[in-house]
Amino acid sequence: MTIKGSCCCGGVRFELFEPPLMMGTCHCSRCRKAGSGVYAYVRAEAFHWLAGRDLVVRYQPRPPMRFNRSFCRRCGTSLGDPDSGRILAIAASCLDDDPGVRVAFEEYGPDAPPWEKPA
Ligand SMILES: [Zn+2]
Ligand SMILES: [Zn+2]
Repeated sequence: MTIKGSCCCGGVRFELFEPPLMMGTCHCSRCRKAGSGVYAYVRAEAFHWLAGRDLVVRYQPRPPMRFNRSFCRRCGTSLGDPDSGRILAIAASCLDDDPGVRVAFEEYGPDAPPWEKPA
């Protein structure tokens, strides 16, 4: 069983050969601006591009910030960072199938904006 993922325009498609190791939500301002906050952590060996790798552009922040941000350059969908590390942080918002794993932790909770939760 594979878990499929794609961008908004459908140009970028990928699949996971196994469920994520874990999932977590980050509330920091950088994730918020990048348009993603929930990540599925996947072993690099379990990630496979199906289409559109040429559409993927990457933003590399200046140190000390270190997490790269990849996007589809046609539709802007935030993909997480599918290109670096042994454990990839994939934007869970791209997943088309239920990964079978649930969010287990949150990061930067105090940085969450006041409008994030229902008033
Ligand atoms: Zn796209
Ligand atoms: Zn973050």
